[in-house]
Amino acid sequence: MIEPLEAQARLDQIVMLIAKHMETEVCSLYVLRADGVLELYATEGLNPGSVHLAQLRLGEGLVGTIAATARPLNLSDAQNHPAFTYLPETGEEIYATFLGVPVLRAGRTLGVLVVQNKAAGRVYPEEESEALETVAMVIAEMIAAGGLEGLSRPGVTLDLTRPVSFAGLALCDGIGIGRVVLHEPRVIVSSLFNEDVDSEVSRLTEALAILRESIEGMLARREVADEGEHRAVLETYRKFAQDRGWVRRLEEAVRNGLTAEAAVEKVQSDMRARMMHLTDPYIRERLHDFDDLANRLLRQLIGQVGAGNGASDAVVVARNMGAAELLDYHRGQIKGLVLEEGATTSHVVIVARALGIPVAGQVKGVVSMAENGDPIVVDGESGDVHLRPPPEVHDLFADKLGFRAERQQRYRSLRDLPAKTRDGVAIGLQMNAGLLVDLPQLAESGAEGIGLFRTELQFMVASTMPRASDQERLYRAVIDAAGTRPVTFRTLDVGGDKLLPYLAHGLEQNPALGYRAMRLALDRPGLLRTQLRALLKAAGGRNLKIMFPMITDLSEIVAARTLIAREIEHLERFGYAPPNELKLGAMLEVPSLLYQLDPLMRMLDFVSIGSNDLFQFFFAVDRGNANVATRYDDLSVPFLRALRDVVLAGERHGVPVSLCGEMAGRPLSAMALIGLGFRSISMAPPSIGPVKAMLLELDAQKLRGELAALLDDPSEVGSARSFLKDFAERHRIPY
Ligand code: PEP
Ligand code: MG
Repeated sequence: MIEPLEAQARLDQIVMLIAKHMETEVCSLYVLRADGVLELYATEGLNPGSVHLAQLRLGEGLVGTIAATARPLNLSDAQNHPAFTYLPETGEEIYATFLGVPVLRAGRTLGVLVVQNKAAGRVYPEEESEALETVAMVIAEMIAAGGLEGLSRPGVTLDLTRPVSFAGLALCDGIGIGRVVLHEPRVIVSSLFNEDVDSEVSRLTEALAILRESIEGMLARREVADEGEHRAVLETYRKFAQDRGWVRRLEEAVRNGLTAEAAVEKVQSDMRARMMHLTDPYIRERLHDFDDLANRLLRQLIGQVGAGNGASDAVVVARNMGAAELLDYHRGQIKGLVLEEGATTSHVVIVARALGIPVAGQVKGVVSMAENGDPIVVDGESGDVHLRPPPEVHDLFADKLGFRAERQQRYRSLRDLPAKTRDGVAIGLQMNAGLLVDLPQLAESGAEGIGLFRTELQFMVASTMPRASDQERLYRAVIDAAGTRPVTFRTLDVGGDKLLPYLAHGLEQNPALGYRAMRLALDRPGLLRTQLRALLKAAGGRNLKIMFPMITDLSEIVAARTLIAREIEHLERFGYAPPNELKLGAMLEVPSLLYQLDPLMRMLDFVSIGSNDLFQFFFAVDRGNANVATRYDDLSVPFLRALRDVVLAGERHGVPVSLCGEMAGRPLSAMALIGLGFRSISMAPPSIGPVKAMLLELDAQKLRGELAALLDDPSEVGSARSFLKDFAERHRIPY
């Protein structure tokens, strides 16, 4: 590799040598270009005329799959792999055995190195795969050092200056314009092979010791200062830093000839490769913590400790990241988040949403394409990401952002106005929350209180079961922050789409209809009792509202009440002050309750409709399945009739009825709810402004009359949406 050859001649030599030593018929190198295309740069065995002509897109074919997933593929029957794509110019269809490894440098895919054989049934052994990975690391250094410049066809250069757009998944609304901050700074490992195994092993051991110490230090510092979501993650790091298997693999790699940093990088690449393969969200999140730890160790070895980024317009770009790592950034500093992985339920996404950071997920290839400081635009509404956007794209989004900012400014000016309709009906606008980081929104949004505190978020963001004291501390902090404003705590709503990694959830065919929420909580009362006790203690001498999720049968309310009574008795026996006033409510999310509304109301102090789930069960549509979730309308006449029945039952019994699903945050739906008689609704904090702007212009009694006429007409079917839009337009109500 260090022979003084022209770049192409050197590559040709490399693939020839690999083929010879591994006794394979084919060895090819594909390089990832800035436009996301993998181009054949050198081959031994395939048609030489196809070099610089054969191309695959990221994710296309076996080679594209390896590049997109950053994970090796070792196959004995390549043509039958679902991702196989035939490139006629290379003549490769006769090769059955296939081993391809990504050419990775500091977590970034630069290309793919492949060996192939005709003989079917042969599998490349593990050592050969490892050897090929090591060669790929060396090639990566060569590419990074500019060793391939000028090799591609004219017009396609390897430089990362071109605009690229990605279509990702919209995970949190908003527009972010700024500069790329790679979450994992590219730590450049330039010396790969060690000269003295023993001294390298001691370097590694020393760095590990310093790493462990620094984690202890962080834990000690946070002991009193910060009991939030952060601590649990640090505790996981502490455990991982002691992990014997990890340390052994690192040492092994050093003993095989690598430097300590190259060993960390190699073990990290293997880990990432496994990570891509896993579907279990819990294990993925945990391996991700490992990945972060490996980065810290690398920085330790290379001496880049504490290299932070102070940019004020950061768009953080990462493969994936832990929730706590996002909290490490300054809130005002982050304009957006772009993830190669990431799903609605990822912890980091939950936290980003709480912080109001626009997020696009599943943005394949972005880490490879982005450089620190590159201009970037993330559109959290569509999921699109524009890296190094041309001026016209940048300006378009700058305009959109300006427009949004103006609107926000308008909403802010409404914040201190009372939420009263034009005809003087007061509407309680409450906010939904679930984490400590949500709390500043109480003042910022002008919410009257917290109408839904999703207690499961604390459990979902942690890597182990939050202790009773952790729960109590969070609840106390929430009640303190709310001051005189009411907070409605919902007890654990897990199961369904909200899985707790550390709690065994059996595989279910229909998790939404499965063992979840109160069903689980009443069967395993230990969990619920601990939570109830934490709530009761945190609210000692103050007001407390507790509500139970997914109530399906009234006996569940009786059982829950019994548990609460027992906990109160227990606390009083030990001299704790009970809450000043305790109100118990239920979420109405299951249609079975619609046919027992009177007895239901008699049992409760309040009811809150979970319209997300009620809609899901009413229409039998999976709320998380994009193919069907928007197929039916939540403003349909039958659904509105059901909602009205609940309001009327509440009125009959003097029991307040609220609604805390997503519907409450959409101005047109919120208008419909007020028209049905709702006097309190709870929504995500950013929705409070738009909903308030709507209701300030609304004549609630007039709408109630007109809507009643529509719903009372038995022949009326279908959606009330056009009626509602027409009403809003006639009365100049912004929606
Ligand atoms: C709902 O179902 O509408 C609700 C508010 O609960 P969640 O979205 O947490 O299931
Ligand atoms: Mg629900």
